[in-house]
Amino acid sequence: MFEKILVANRGEIAVRVIRACKELNIKSVAVYSEADANSMHAQLADEAICIGKSPSSESYLRIDRIISAAEIADVDAIHPGYGFLSENAHFSDVCESCNIRFIGPSSRAMNALEDKAISRDLAKKAGVPLPPGSEGLIENEQDALSTAKRIGYPVMIKAVAGGGGRGMRVAHNDISLIKGYHTARAEAEKAFGNSGVYIEKFIENPHHIEFQILGDGRGNIIHLGERDCSVQRRNQKIVEETPSPLIETKFKGLRKTMGKAAIKIAEMAHYTNAGTVEFIVDEKGNYYFLEVNKRIQVEHPITEEVTGIDLVKQQIMIAMGEPLKISQSDVQIKGHSIECRINAEDPFGDFRPSPGRIEMYYAPGGRGVRIDSHAYAGYTIPPHYDSMIGKLITTGRDRREAMDLMNRALGEFMITGVKTTIPFQQAILQDPNFRRGVYSTNFVEQLLTGARRELIEDKA
Ligand code: ADP
Ligand code: ADP
Ligand code: MG
Repeated sequence: MFEKILVANRGEIAVRVIRACKELNIKSVAVYSEADANSMHAQLADEAICIGKSPSSESYLRIDRIISAAEIADVDAIHPGYGFLSENAHFSDVCESCNIRFIGPSSRAMNALEDKAISRDLAKKAGVPLPPGSEGLIENEQDALSTAKRIGYPVMIKAVAGGGGRGMRVAHNDISLIKGYHTARAEAEKAFGNSGVYIEKFIENPHHIEFQILGDGRGNIIHLGERDCSVQRRNQKIVEETPSPLIETKFKGLRKTMGKAAIKIAEMAHYTNAGTVEFIVDEKGNYYFLEVNKRIQVEHPITEEVTGIDLVKQQIMIAMGEPLKISQSDVQIKGHSIECRINAEDPFGDFRPSPGRIEMYYAPGGRGVRIDSHAYAGYTIPPHYDSMIGKLITTGRDRREAMDLMNRALGEFMITGVKTTIPFQQAILQDPNFRRGVYSTNFVEQLLTGARRELIEDKA
């Protein structure tokens, strides 16, 4: 049994992991940057260690400082959360060589899925459909042009190391392809220190549907159903739900087929711990592999709510070497769950980040409402990190009830001092197409275009 775990992250996910530790009677150690001295994760943990200045390159990305903190606090394991070092194979190797368990996939699995191009190859070998695209990396402009010619426009140029919707560009012709090739490379170099890109056919109006996986490294791999994350702005998720309305209403058989495909990919990668296999599904019900997220995901709570399985505790148990105690047939999906990512951004000002001090904070409660957040009244949101300040999750008997709960809860949520995405999420929850469950990844763009038109008409 682990006695002490260090959480190498911040914000809501650090709080989430510390809560799991407390419930398992495991001591927790927080690390924090100077900007996060008053952050909730540093206050809730049993111990807290400052690891450097505010920029993440000086703190949450510093392997040496995190390992020093782990040695000083004498921990058994490190939970990396999401983002930062969570998918860094070198970090997990360093942990293991210091005799500290890394709570995540084994190095073998990390390497099998090292980047998106390698993962595409693996999915292909597994016989899982993928969007037509380049074989490996794009070497130069000529290579980009001939690949686009072969698969046909529109295409998407994507960073192999990409994440969080960054480093991707859509191109409809040769001119935008060359431009997109260079901008995607530059953006990827800046964000991930890796300028490698590949090209994929751009699938129009798809649904983003992903499967939660758990593997124990002893040959047991199961999936916990799907999540529909098609409500996205600039390829970043804003609202997620499970089950997927598309699967429920149009393509019932896809759950089984895609679940099997996800497990096949995980098996071929010898996947251990929690992970997510992401797909897009087109209007005809064709599905295509996108990528594997080798970590806990932001939207994991909705799966927890409908399965009754605590994913972070499962991660910890698996890292301790425990075999999975749940089999595929034990997994029963009950009810419907929705998550809204509450970001400190101005929805009326092009979603500009809105860091600063939270003056008033009143969180909704009542039956069916869950909040995962590190925010509180008087907390100052630092400008150095991403703008998510919490997640509001509602769970009901069915989709209708989950939506009604969400609408009510969004209306109760009071945060002043900073701008938040709450009004925008209310507009989504009240949109007739969303309520009917008819939406794809271009839904938000359409909603925003409509809203802009209304504003202009109001002014006229
Ligand atoms: P999820 O599918 O879990 O929602 P996202 O892609 O939205 O994943 O990313 C979750 C968090 O991790 C965000 O804070 C995002 O900025 C960060 N992130 C994702 N991928 C990377 C990466 N490769 N490098 C750095 N940060 C990342
Ligand atoms: P990230 O690592 O940033 O999460 P993904 O490959 O998972 O990158 O893609 C993020 C989102 O971008 C998807 O959910 C989808 O909306 C869009 N996307 C990615 N690839 C394609 C594609 N080939 N066709 C259409 N949309 C795509
Ligand atoms: Mg993704």
